[in-house]
Amino acid sequence: MITVLFAAPDRDWDEFSQALRDAFAAAELEVNLVGEADPLEVDYIVYAPTGWLKDFTPYTRLKGVQSLWAGVEKIVGNETLHAPLARMVDFGLREGMVEYCVGHVLRHHLGMDLDICRSDTNWAVHVPPLARDRSVTILGLGALGAAVAEALAALNFKVTGWSRRQKDLAGVRCLAGQEGLDEALRAGEIVVLLLPQTPETDNVLDAKRLALLPAGACIINPGRGPLIDDDALLAALGRGQVAHATLDVFRIEPLPKDHPFWAHPQVTVTPHIASDTRPASAARLVADNIGRSEAGLPMLHVVDRGAGY
Ligand code: NAP
Repeated sequence: MITVLFAAPDRDWDEFSQALRDAFAAAELEVNLVGEADPLEVDYIVYAPTGWLKDFTPYTRLKGVQSLWAGVEKIVGNETLHAPLARMVDFGLREGMVEYCVGHVLRHHLGMDLDICRSDTNWAVHVPPLARDRSVTILGLGALGAAVAEALAALNFKVTGWSRRQKDLAGVRCLAGQEGLDEALRAGEIVVLLLPQTPETDNVLDAKRLALLPAGACIINPGRGPLIDDDALLAALGRGQVAHATLDVFRIEPLPKDHPFWAHPQVTVTPHIASDTRPASAARLVADNIGRSEAGLPMLHVVDRGAGY
């Protein structure tokens, strides 16, 4: 019998426990799924950073930790954790993110806010270019960024992507390195941030880099708040360098009520809902990964702690 500790908030237990039990049964794994346990008896931990578990020291027979989140910045530096840490990569998360990003790229591309927020009777005609004449830049070409880039390329957008290591994606101009970043930003009429939060990506959009964007660019950030220097963004919005920012993630969440983003006419705030972990699809990855580990195989999507993601 394998003991799996679910270390996430109570509301997640209500959502996930049955899906996990179903997935373990489908994978023919004999699992005792528990919300609390003697640490000495725990084989695997299903983890959310919003949960109660901070110190892994007592879990001496731990074989692996499966994060329910794709972003692991809150656990990757935890020095009490020595077992492999796997992050969440599944089709539900991917499809949710593709829908959020494609939706907001199309919204900015088509200038939909002009009509949705219209407060006058002005018959001013605004004709957007076709997608084939619109450049979109995706920062981060991982599990989510690559899927978003490919979905936008399939709609004919001119897509440029940037990652740490060189990528090769059909229909996407792939760039890497610091020079690649500058070039990607110069091309970015619409920029989507899907980078992880690491020391290297902190303030990746600072004042200097925001100044590289074409005048009137739009920014969509479902990655992490610290990727953008907030004050530099407010300044870029003020001078029209950036026409609009759609932000899903923030340095402090929930975004404080007095934060200038809330009332800013050129900022759309969404409350960290770009893509949620869906219990049914996520549970299949958890079961798959525990099954792999029990069979002596490495877990999938193990975090590179040196790189921080
Ligand atoms: P991933 O598969 O690890 O991909 C990360 C991408 O960022 C990779 O392409 C990686 O480059 C690139 N990267 C990392 N550090 C870099 C650097 N210093 N310079 C250039 N590129 C760098 O992650 P993912 O699953 O796509 O998720 C991305 C992020 O989305 C997560 O970390 C999380 O913060 C965020 N997220 C948000 C939500 C939401 O609801 N808002 C939901 C899920 C995830 P390589 O390909 O070369 O490694």
